[in-house]
Amino acid sequence: MQNLTVNGDRLWRSLMETAVFGGTPKGGIKRLTLTEEDRAVRDWLTEQCLALDCRMSVDEVGNMFFTRAGTDPTLAPIAIGSHLDTQPTGGKFDGILGVLAGLEILRTLNESGYETRHPLMLVNWTNEEGARFSPAMLGSGVHAGVFDRLYADTRVARDGQTFGDALEAIGFRGDTPAGSTGMAAMLELHIEQGPVLEAQGKDIGIVEGVQSMRWYDLVIEGVEAHAGPTPMALRKDALLAAAELILLVERIANSHAPGVGTVGCVEVHPNSRNVVPGRVALSVDLRHPEDDQLDVMEAELRHEIGARLKDGFAITLSEHWRSPAVKFDSLCVDAVAEGAAACGYSSVRIHSGAGHDSAYIARVAPTSMIFVPCLGGLSHNEAESTTKEQCLAGAQTLLNAVLCLDRSLDVRAGDALGTIGVAVGMGSVGHIEDTATPGDNRI
Ligand SMILES: [Zn+2]
Repeated sequence: MQNLTVNGDRLWRSLMETAVFGGTPKGGIKRLTLTEEDRAVRDWLTEQCLALDCRMSVDEVGNMFFTRAGTDPTLAPIAIGSHLDTQPTGGKFDGILGVLAGLEILRTLNESGYETRHPLMLVNWTNEEGARFSPAMLGSGVHAGVFDRLYADTRVARDGQTFGDALEAIGFRGDTPAGSTGMAAMLELHIEQGPVLEAQGKDIGIVEGVQSMRWYDLVIEGVEAHAGPTPMALRKDALLAAAELILLVERIANSHAPGVGTVGCVEVHPNSRNVVPGRVALSVDLRHPEDDQLDVMEAELRHEIGARLKDGFAITLSEHWRSPAVKFDSLCVDAVAEGAAACGYSSVRIHSGAGHDSAYIARVAPTSMIFVPCLGGLSHNEAESTTKEQCLAGAQTLLNAVLCLDRSLDVRAGDALGTIGVAVGMGSVGHIEDTATPGDNRI
C-alpha cells in the first residue's frame, strides 16, 4: 500500500464550507437537486477541481465528471464520487462525503505528485435523492441505461418545473452524451444510513451489495358499520385485519434475518371515530440481501393473506415496485477490504439497506461501496452526524482501495462500457409503472 495520507482536517473544512449552500438553522442542508443551492455547490466543486488541473465534462443530464490524468492514456478512469443533492431536511454527509472525499483524494495525489496508471475521475451524480424529481438515482440511472434521457427530462417537480428545464436554468445541461463516459471501476464512499456499524463498533463497512427490495400495496376491504349497534362478533373490521397483517410482516421479517419488513403507510377509511373501518390501505416494504429469500418472504405473506380471506375480507396485494439484489464486483469489494486493513481499521462485510447510485453503476462497471458509521444510524435528517475521524477513515480507505484497484485492474478505455465482466444481480429495475403487475398479484 502506498504511503499516501489524506488530510482529515481539509476534508472536514470542505464539508463545513459547502454546508452553507442550502444550510438550515438546525445544522442540516436543504439542497434539492437543480436548484440555486445545487448550482452554487456545483460551481464550488468546479472551481476546486479545475484548480487541480482536472478535465471537466458534464453530460446531458447534468452528471459531472472531473478527470485527473493517469500515466497510461489507454486505460479507462477509476471513478470515485457520489451526490451533492439532499433531502428537504437533509444532513451534511449523505452523498456529500463521497464527493468531497473524492476531492480530497485528488488534492492529496496532486500534493504528493503521485501518478496513478489509470486516470482518476471524480463524479457528482444528478438527482440521487429523488426528493424534487422522482424517481431517485435518476442521473446514475440514465448513465447506466436504466432510464432514457427523455424520461429524465420530462420528470416534473411539485412546483411544475421539469427536470430538463431546471437543468438548463442552472446551466448544467452538458454536451457529453449520457452514458458515454466509460469507467474501469467505480467506488463510492457513503455514510451507512443504518445503525449496524455503530452497534458493532466498526470503523468501515465493506459493502458487498444492495439488498433486494419490493414494495407492495395492500388493501383490506371489510364492512363499514356503526360503532354502537354492531356487536363485536358481527363485524368485519378492516383495521383489525390490518393490525394482524402488520404484525405478520414483522413475524415474517424476524424469521428471515437479515430480512426486514416495514409497514410505513396506513390509510383508514372512513377514518371516523364512531365507524367500524371498512377499508384500509397499507404499504408493505420487504427487503433481503438474496432474491430467493425475498421470494420466500413474499410467498409467506401471500399464503397468510389467503388464510385471512376465509374470514370474509377482500384483500388485494399488488406489487408497486421492485429492485433485485445487487452483487458488487468481488475485485472492488476486496480492494475496499484491503484498503481498510492497510490502515488497521476494523471492518465488517455488509449489504446496503438503501438504494444508491452505485446500484445502477454496477450494471455497467465493476463497483463497490465503503460505509462509515453515522450517529444513531440517522440520515435524511438535519441531525445526521459523522465525526471528523470517521470521515477521515472512510476517505483513507477509499484512497487505499483506489490505489489497490489501480494496480489490479487493467481495463482499456475502449472496453469500458458494458463489455467487462461484472457480477450483477440487477435484472429489471425500471420505472415504478413498469414493474407493477396488479393482474398477477390479486389474491
Ligand atoms: Zn445518499
